[in-house]
Amino acid sequence: MKDYARYSFWLETCGDDLTPRPALDGSIRADVAILGAGFTGLWTAYHLLRREPSLKVVVVEREIAGFGASGRNGGWCFAGFPYPPAQLVARYGRDAARAVSLAMYDSVDDVGRVCELEGIDAHFAKGGELEIARAPYDLPKLDERYDEYRAVGLEDHYALLDAEQTRERIRVAEAVGAFWNKEGAAIQPARLARGLARAVERHGGTIYEQTTVTDYVPGPWPRLDTERGNISARAIVLAGEAYLSRLPKLRRRIIPATSHIVITEPLSDDLWRQIGWERREVVGGFGTTGAYLNHTADGRIAFGPYRGKYPFNSAITDAIDRREDVFEHGRQSARQWFPMLKEAGVGFTHAWGGVFGIPRDHMPIMRYDRRTGVALGYGYTGEGVATANLSGRVLADLITERDSELTHLPMTSHAPVDWEPEPIRWLGSSLVRRGRDRANREVERSGRYPEQPDLAQRLWSFEPPRAWQAVWRMAAKD
Ligand SMILES: Cc1cc2nc3c(=O)[nH]c(=O)nc-3n(C[C@H](O)[C@H](O)[C@H](O)COP(=O)(O)OP(=O)(O)OC[C@H]3O[C@@H](n4cnc5c(N)ncnc54)[C@H](O)[C@@H]3O)c2cc1C
Repeated sequence: MKDYARYSFWLETCGDDLTPRPALDGSIRADVAILGAGFTGLWTAYHLLRREPSLKVVVVEREIAGFGASGRNGGWCFAGFPYPPAQLVARYGRDAARAVSLAMYDSVDDVGRVCELEGIDAHFAKGGELEIARAPYDLPKLDERYDEYRAVGLEDHYALLDAEQTRERIRVAEAVGAFWNKEGAAIQPARLARGLARAVERHGGTIYEQTTVTDYVPGPWPRLDTERGNISARAIVLAGEAYLSRLPKLRRRIIPATSHIVITEPLSDDLWRQIGWERREVVGGFGTTGAYLNHTADGRIAFGPYRGKYPFNSAITDAIDRREDVFEHGRQSARQWFPMLKEAGVGFTHAWGGVFGIPRDHMPIMRYDRRTGVALGYGYTGEGVATANLSGRVLADLITERDSELTHLPMTSHAPVDWEPEPIRWLGSSLVRRGRDRANREVERSGRYPEQPDLAQRLWSFEPPRAWQAVWRMAAKD
């Protein structure tokens, strides 16, 4: 059996022994069959069972609950949505953009509410989200971010902080200002995933672990096929995020990208006095100094540097979780952010990585097609902790045929866009990554952002031109 504790500090310290639940043993029937026991699958199961307790809900997991990104992430449970408000306004209008943000605020609160209700001690602390600018040229970008929310009438949830106000919250070297979003909480993600799995079981759901779904079949009785038997159901839910790229039918719907985290030993009270950060906001680096940080309940700093990569041909392996160069970059960056860590000789105890999923146009999908019986919830581009809760609530409403505000959100009708076939998608994403690194270096050198992103970034971001999509649809065999 795999040593699941080694996949993240969170899994190691979640309080479970991580022994797998029994696998599926033969073919069965259910009302709803769900692929994946990460946040998306578990929230869908949980909210289905809360809405209709008599439903037979079955979750099928290849490894153990919380094995994927849900048990390894930065613990940012916040209202950031991967498709920014301005883009949502341009594509779906102001009301839809506003509705998405309001639904995301509810998701953060729903996570806290369910933790309370179900007795899940996920270290949920709603201190907000603080994005810190560490160079003057980033300040206008903070203003732009704030203006996007003002344009949809939601500025009350956000605030711009100057250097002094930022220092009052947290002492980060070179901080010149911050964007504060009050809709954010720090969590211990593996405790949430494992606790949620137990809550699903308490409400009557069944979770089969160590069982890989190899294919799915749409139809009047849609089916999940596994190597240990098949599950026919009234509805099936595909909630495998980045890993969905392994299913032949969804190969080009989503790509995996890596993200890595390092974590310190617990800091002394004296160091915490120097740093501040009493409210335990989740903290991010804005612009060229991008990073995501968590002040853990046991007094450590988890630091995630942005050095993600797309693995060629969407190949997800354990090896891509362990990038010593990225870990070292993370440790050095953490010491630059907080020079007192270096002075005090603070050590780093754990380092790990995982994959999250990116859809071609960055718009998450939360859809249910009653005709085929297939529901999909994926595509959070690294902002999936609260968004997966939203997926779960949306899919539960769609499957139980409730007409709610959630079932009219744009993600429920958005048509997914396919990625280009290989090797184009690997070359494209490598070009974009290199272009972005080059642009960041140039910004740091010149002290200002370019007027326009470069060509590769424009081609790769958001909706690709329709003619381009048509060419790949015709040409692609992969
Ligand atoms: C290092 C890292 C840091 C991150 N930090 C943050 C953060 O701080 N805040 C934030 O909002 N987001 C963050 N994210 C993203 C976020 O964690 C994910 O978007 C979210 O957890 C996705 O949940 P999920 O349930 O959809 O997918 P996952 O958690 O990946 O779960 C999918 C599950 O499906 C199972 N599965 C896959 N294929 C099959 C199959 N064929 N058969 C059976 N089972 C299968 C997998 O084993 C897995 O358990 C981070 C991601 C990473 C990797």
